[in-house]
Parts: sequence; structure tokens; C-alpha cells
Amino acid sequence: MRALFKHHAGTELKFDAARPKPVCGARDVLIRVSKVGICGTDRHIWEWDTWAAGRIPVGIVTGHEFVGVIEEVGSAVTKYKPGLRVSAEGHTTAWLDYNARTGNAHIAADTRIIGVDRDGCFADYVCVPEENVWPVHPNIPDKVAAVLDPLGNAVHTVMAAGVSAKTVLITGVGIIGLMAVTVAKAAGASRIFCTDIDPRRLALAKKLGAVEVFDARQGDGWVGEVRKACRGDGPDVLLEMSGAASSFDLGFRALRNGGTAALLGIPSKPLVFDWNQHVVFKGATVLGINGRKMFETWYQMESLLLSGRLELDDIITHEMPIENFKKAFETMICGDGIKVVMSVNG
Ligand code: ZN
Repeated sequence: MRALFKHHAGTELKFDAARPKPVCGARDVLIRVSKVGICGTDRHIWEWDTWAAGRIPVGIVTGHEFVGVIEEVGSAVTKYKPGLRVSAEGHTTAWLDYNARTGNAHIAADTRIIGVDRDGCFADYVCVPEENVWPVHPNIPDKVAAVLDPLGNAVHTVMAAGVSAKTVLITGVGIIGLMAVTVAKAAGASRIFCTDIDPRRLALAKKLGAVEVFDARQGDGWVGEVRKACRGDGPDVLLEMSGAASSFDLGFRALRNGGTAALLGIPSKPLVFDWNQHVVFKGATVLGINGRKMFETWYQMESLLLSGRLELDDIITHEMPIENFKKAFETMICGDGIKVVMSVNG
């Protein structure tokens, strides 16, 4: 089969036209991949940064965002049959540890991620455990079904924080931040404020429903403006999606006393952070967000998609064949593209 894999401990990926097809275990399904999404994680792997060098096994097929059609099922698979259009949760677990057994499988200690710890979906075929399969509703197009993984991150963050009838500040409107704007709006946020350092993305955040956007490169004046717009108290909810140290500081400064902060952004190194002012004296609730809840988030996401209130067309900016992967990665890395989808089979 065709596959994009990490051919050496360095930058880029290599296209292999004759990679062996994955072997389907008894409880696995083999999926013929239709479309895939390029994630920030794939960019780390492409650029081979410190995180990737310490985590990614050389030789692995990358990619974890996809939609496809089941081609073959293992002998012990009971629920699904060939021909079904599916996506899948990319975090796998044996479902035996404490968290997996108490509704928090997304933070199970034995979690392995497709395209990171085991072969992924930038290929004609990918193999996943039956439990991870998510049948895709016929009203959800392939282009959207290919990016349910990052959309799930946004849905999990928004739903964990609870935004209905609340004012929301989103610091960082990259792919997931932009998705969070449309998800928060659909979930009933009263007013959404955004910061970022890219004016194009801020303009899109506004188009998707933010009432006010601020260029974080122009100092911290926006903190006072956002607080003033929220009765002088500050927004009820902070969704931190940038991972930038300054955004943590300013976002918490803006948050009202007693507010809730859901943190998805990942700082590249440990932060210096004023816990006393920002969390303890403020009485803030802080939520760490990792992955998507299995499978509560997936049901919520499907429900939101079928409501017709999510606007994803402007976020999924490019679609190209997987053979053009270099162009696809360049488009994403230079910032011209937001979510770039590659077609593998159809
Ligand atoms: Zn992803």
C-alpha cells in the first residue's frame, strides 16, 4: 500500500508506494482510508522537534485524523461489518486501568496513539481496535469526518468548561481555537472574545462568531477591555488554546473571580505563573484538557454537527491528494492553510 512514514531521525516524511498492508488482529478492523487531516502533532513529527525526537519511533506511519471505509474485520469483531463509513478515536487503551473503567479512558495510563506510538492513517489502510471505531452519520461529509479528532478536542474543552449563557475568552485561535469559537457559539456562549498573533485567524474568529478579537502582539491592553465588556468582572470562562506563557498570565488576569479555565494549549517549557493571584485568591476552577472523552465527546460532537450550527468550511481551507504531501505540509506550516485535508482514496 501507499504510506507516508518517518524514514529517519530528522525532518520531513517519506512516501512509500510499497508498504505492507497492516495485519488485522482478531479484535481489530482494517479501514481503507478516504481522507486524512494534518494535525499540529504531525507538524511536530515533520519538523522533528525535541518532543518528536523523544517520542516517535523511526519507521512509523504517521497521521491520526481520518475517515474511511471498513474493508475487513478480525475474527472476534462483533459489531461492525465491511462497507461501513467510519472514523476512529486515535487513543487506544486495554480498558483495564482505573480511569478506563471509570469513564475517563482518554487519560488511561496505558494510552497509545495511532500515528504516534503505533502505525497511523497517512496510508491506504489503517488498523484500529473495534472499540475505537466511530460510525460516521451519512449527513456528515468526508471532509468534516476527516477532522473529528481535533474537532473533538474543541468540543471536549468547551463542554468541560460549560459555556451556555456565559462570556468566553479564547486565547489562541489556531485550528482548535477556531473550532472552539464555532462550538462555543453553537453551545450557547453569550459573547466570545479571542486573542491571537495572526490577524487572518482573528478575522476568521470574528466571522465565526467572536464579538471582539485582539492582536496579542499589541500589548496587554486587551485584558482591561475584555474585563470592561464583561461588567468589569471579566469573562466567566477562559479557554486557553495557545500554549504561550503570556496568554496563560493575561488570560487568567482577564478571567473573573470564580471563573473556570479549561487548558488545552501546551507550553513548550515549564511556566512561571502567579498561582496566588490567578487561581487561589481568584477562586478559579482549572481544568486540564487532554484528547476527547471516550465516547461522550463523540456523541456531543455528532449532535452539534447534525444541528447544522457548526461552521467548519472556512477552517478546512485546503484539500489535496496525499501525493502532494510536501505542498500540504508547507501550506499548513507557512500559515496560509488552517486545516489541510489530504485525499487518499476519494
Ligand atoms: Zn490531531
